[in-house]
Amino acid sequence: MATVTALDSRKKKAPETQATPAETVERRTLRNLSPADGEPLASVPITTPDEVRAAVARARRAQSAWARMPIEERAERILRFRDAIVENADRLVDVLVRETGKPRNEALLHEVLVVADLASYFAHNAARILAPQNISLHFLVHRKSYVHYAPKGVIGVISPWNFPFAIPMGDVIPALLAGNAVIVKPSEVTPLIALEAKKVFDSTGLPEDLFQVITGDGATGQALIESGIQKLIFTGGVATGKRVAAACGAQLVPCIMELGGKAPLLALSDCDVERTARAIVYGGFCNSGQACISVERVYAHRSIHDELLRRVKELVGELKQGDASKSFVDIGSIIFPKQIETAEKLIADAVAKGAEVVAGGERVHRAGNYFQPTVLAECHHGMDVMREEIFGPIVPIQRIDSDEEAIALANDSHLGLNAYVFSKSRERALRVAEKIEAGSVVVNDVMLNYGACEAPFGGLKESGFGRVHGDDSLRDMCDKRHVNYGRVPMPARDPLWFPYSSTSYSIFSKGLEVLFHGAGVIQRIVKRMP
Ligand code: NDP
Repeated sequence: MATVTALDSRKKKAPETQATPAETVERRTLRNLSPADGEPLASVPITTPDEVRAAVARARRAQSAWARMPIEERAERILRFRDAIVENADRLVDVLVRETGKPRNEALLHEVLVVADLASYFAHNAARILAPQNISLHFLVHRKSYVHYAPKGVIGVISPWNFPFAIPMGDVIPALLAGNAVIVKPSEVTPLIALEAKKVFDSTGLPEDLFQVITGDGATGQALIESGIQKLIFTGGVATGKRVAAACGAQLVPCIMELGGKAPLLALSDCDVERTARAIVYGGFCNSGQACISVERVYAHRSIHDELLRRVKELVGELKQGDASKSFVDIGSIIFPKQIETAEKLIADAVAKGAEVVAGGERVHRAGNYFQPTVLAECHHGMDVMREEIFGPIVPIQRIDSDEEAIALANDSHLGLNAYVFSKSRERALRVAEKIEAGSVVVNDVMLNYGACEAPFGGLKESGFGRVHGDDSLRDMCDKRHVNYGRVPMPARDPLWFPYSSTSYSIFSKGLEVLFHGAGVIQRIVKRMP
């Protein structure tokens, strides 16, 4: 539905912010700027609330036919969509790099490949996952139950700018497989990749209204919540998430909240220092640290701390930073200037409280938004950088004395999305991992669990609720409906129904006694009943 106007990038002066709502004669639009050089990229319309409601109505019509299709057929169509994604990988990567400033390798691996793989897994497994499930009844033994999964209807997806293809499409594909229609409201700073995904979808001959993209800002997202959708999957910051959850509550729209992260990396005394140092550098600086599962703080055991810090510093010195659309750099640009201001504020606070800048520490003065990969040492929890989400290329490091101290500090956070533990002993690492309050903990690796689409992904505490990925997430795209029926014919006059009498009451009363306080034999029989 959205039309894109390409701007003549050479003639226009770059405005201050990445996306500036601008009044035009016909409608309000968003103007997108390249984070790599500040030049205008395109202009997209802001979808009005009336248009959002119309989009949902069209989606609902398309969904009813789609839901009637056998699941195997839906899966086959989604595999065609996957194939089209793979065939168009270079074009998708181009748009991602232009719009987000991320390196090409990351656009390919973290976005396109992750989605193609997720589509394969869920398409090949949807029929199994959504098959009706029999439920044994231990008490009402004369009856049987099963649940079956019915599509919800229209599912809304509101997504952020940091993985603007992988995050929304990772929700869209399971939602479609489950028989729903989906409407995506991308971040206002990354609408182009969502529109490109829609183009690829349309090229496969899938019903046009089944998956729609509505470009716009926060108000467009709000309109989506109020437009009669049956579920919302929201990914974004904690503050916005609280507003969105309240809006969903007001409409009784069930929602999944995928919010911020502050992933700790625990470098235990027996860790492989070289691998841990490389993991810190990769986990802290890929996507310029703008990932909800980025390494946001490191707790390094005193015995390996100095060696680890030395290697981290050396490795950061080897990173190539620059415009990812022009060459193969390791670190690209930052999405918009506000993220740079946040980085500067956090570094100033940390330094004032005793942190030492071991690497980087400053914005790069060139066109576009760039910040040096920064490592801070001698950090502690009195500093904002150890407690607030950074979402930029800064890794603060704190020295610790024991596993217990590392666990306590890791859990001293209002967020609980992801964590990392490094140790040569699997047993020790798993023991520590299980004590960390986070939705996922990864041992001796970083940044890869979002790609493990068989496993649930989501947060504890203010990192949100609900899960994406994993077999249950596909079932959660459906209404779980319980059907109960008799195993044996029952008499017309059911002894449990009317009329009540003192005789039936005393029979029930004796039954209660026998069942729960009576002979052990009966209790054992009841327990064993299927
Ligand atoms: P925001 O919370 O600013 O925005 C997220 C989405 O919500 C955007 O599409 C935004 O639109 C939209 N939005 C804003 N206001 C409203 C509203 N009132 N009603 C409905 N929708 C609204 O997050 P960012 O885009 O800045 O993304 C960064 C955040 O996302 C970080 O905190 C990060 O940790 C988190 N995140 C969490 C992940 C997870 O899986 N847990 C994964 C990735 C990121 P617009 O942009 O147009 O304002």
